[in-house]
Amino acid sequence: MDITRRSVLGSAAAFAVAGLTRAPAVLGQAKPRLVVIGGGPAGATVAKYVAKDSQGAVDVTLVEPLKQYETCFFSNLYLGGFRDLSSILHSYDRLVANYGIKIQQQFALGIDRDKREVKLADGTVLPYDRLVVTPGVSLKYGSVPGYSEAAAQKMPHAWLPGAQTQQLKVMIDAIPDGGLVVMLAPPNPYRCPPGPYERASMMAHLFTATGRKACRIMIVDAKEKFSKQGVFQPAWEKHYPGMIEWLPPSIHGGVKSVDAATNTVVTDFETYKATLVNVIPAQTAGQIAVDTGLANETGFCPIDPANMTSKMDANIYVVGDSCIPGDMPKSAFAANSQAKVAAMSIRGELTGARTFPARYTNTCWSLIEADDCVKVGGTYEPADGKIKETGGFVSQPADAADLRKQNFAESQGWYAGITADIFS
Ligand SMILES: Cc1cc2nc3c(=O)[nH]c(=O)nc-3n(C[C@H](O)[C@H](O)[C@H](O)COP(=O)(O)OP(=O)(O)OC[C@H]3O[C@@H](n4cnc5c(N)ncnc54)[C@H](O)[C@@H]3O)c2cc1C
Repeated sequence: MDITRRSVLGSAAAFAVAGLTRAPAVLGQAKPRLVVIGGGPAGATVAKYVAKDSQGAVDVTLVEPLKQYETCFFSNLYLGGFRDLSSILHSYDRLVANYGIKIQQQFALGIDRDKREVKLADGTVLPYDRLVVTPGVSLKYGSVPGYSEAAAQKMPHAWLPGAQTQQLKVMIDAIPDGGLVVMLAPPNPYRCPPGPYERASMMAHLFTATGRKACRIMIVDAKEKFSKQGVFQPAWEKHYPGMIEWLPPSIHGGVKSVDAATNTVVTDFETYKATLVNVIPAQTAGQIAVDTGLANETGFCPIDPANMTSKMDANIYVVGDSCIPGDMPKSAFAANSQAKVAAMSIRGELTGARTFPARYTNTCWSLIEADDCVKVGGTYEPADGKIKETGGFVSQPADAADLRKQNFAESQGWYAGITADIFS
């Protein structure tokens, strides 16, 4: 299921009111209440670590409409045939069984920041002492002329957890010899900076591995440069010569329109009649965060880098892709790291537990071809009013083949580890 503007609009804006002061300490109250909106890597990690480390001293409710969470991370490997669908699906059952977290399997529609209440789709109202808002991103369909939620049924984005990824997989699997895939890559900031380029690599791998002839992938980008470009482009030429073409705006001149009925993309430079169009539009914070006034003019939510509290409301934490993460990218690794800082701060506020200075970390791996995996990463801490990078690394074009192979093994271990950390 995709999270759409239509599904969360309405009562959200009306229900939201300003609340800039921190609610009184709740130490001594029978059981302080934490409500978490969104069960992705950000929300599920906060819920788990508050429930686990407070040993039941905090009442934790997780609001998430999906019964099973499908990770966007590693969904490209599913598209490329390196993983099956079941390996990227995760249930919330163990969070309930192991830590007593209550799950509300539905949408949150609104937040009353004065009363400190969350309103759910079925009318239930959840009071909170602290609220964590982690709805991921919302897609700005209108950022691409002619694109819409309806058009996404023919031109899938596959950029949110849920059914679109399966749909894109079916369409990629059906590409015939000579097929042309046009991918529209989004402007910054967006979730998973290397994601579009890993996806193009996985499509090229699939076409090559299944013996399809003369297929091409055209990336029409909204940016002049992209993450790990220095290692992606030489690897494309090595593994898939002539198959992937990348066009920055200085060459294509801008996307004028897309037409889902005819699978056409019109740029200033040329009109492409494609076999498949994968549109990844511009993004904002998840809709409920925007509708309840937690985002600023950037469309994302400013936070205090010391603890992940919202700059708009001291009783609310915004974690993961919805927040403005300073130098960190929008990634599952980053969301999980931020969530642990937020969980520590929440336990400090609600139970008096000891807190420590915030430290963050991230690595993003991208698979280009079997055993050819690249990575970029860094360490971060609060400084200069933001989450600031203190050290970093990125794969180099001259890396030995063994190192690239080792990166792949490392990435597999990371996926197993982080999904266990989030969901069990
Ligand atoms: C193709 C692709 C590849 C990627 N690869 C990687 C990778 O290799 N490594 C990596 O670290 N990251 C990767 N990412 C990025 C990663 O998936 C995101 O950064 C991460 O999922 C963000 O976590 P989140 O919890 O903030 O948001 P999400 O994972 O989007 O979770 C948000 C949750 O909130 C729920 N929700 C939304 N609105 C409401 C509401 N109103 N009420 C209740 N629930 C709501 C949604 O159902 C969803 O489950 C990739 C992303 C893509 C698209």
